[in-house]
Amino acid sequence: MMNKQPDAFARLTNALKVLPNVGPKSAQRMAHHLLQHKRKEAQELVDALQHALKQVSHCAQCNTFCEGELCSICSDSTRDARRLMVVHMPADVSNMETANCHDGLYFVLMGQINPAQGMDISAIALDKLVGRLQQSEVEEIIIATNHTAEGDATAYVLAELFKTLPYRVSRLAKGIPLGGELEYVDAGTLAQAVYERRLLKEHEQTE
Ligand SMILES: [Zn+2]
Repeated sequence: MMNKQPDAFARLTNALKVLPNVGPKSAQRMAHHLLQHKRKEAQELVDALQHALKQVSHCAQCNTFCEGELCSICSDSTRDARRLMVVHMPADVSNMETANCHDGLYFVLMGQINPAQGMDISAIALDKLVGRLQQSEVEEIIIATNHTAEGDATAYVLAELFKTLPYRVSRLAKGIPLGGELEYVDAGTLAQAVYERRLLKEHEQTE
């Protein structure tokens, strides 16, 4: 097979395929669009990406993306440190904050477990979560994973882990539509799901 595309174009197309839901066709379309119509914006994209790669890392406490050691929520001393909400992605934190229904802290797993691929727990930041709990005043953990197969699998693994730990554990109510990802749920429904969260396990006092 002869490859009519210049190497640089092929390399760009290949690099773009790293984006979620972008296959070879979409990648080719994007590369074409950038090189043909958006050369100036493409440079800004390069600069922004380079800057973000250098500046953005993970919050030492909640694991979300942030610039510096701690994110703005973890460094806010008015937040209720007794309640820790565990979510999949940074976008879930933004949504919860918009819904204004949780004044505690968060932990961001940065992924979810896919039961179809054999319950691989390396997909979530479990070790970091355990480390986070060791130096905290947490009493209640709210599992706020999606109500999807992946979210349920993740919630199951978390609930198993917390079984041996002294915290009260709850999970968001099913007010969220079945197959619902938190990212697409409106603020009112989200607040309702937090308010009506289901208790999985009571808090045990440690002596
Ligand atoms: Zn944080």
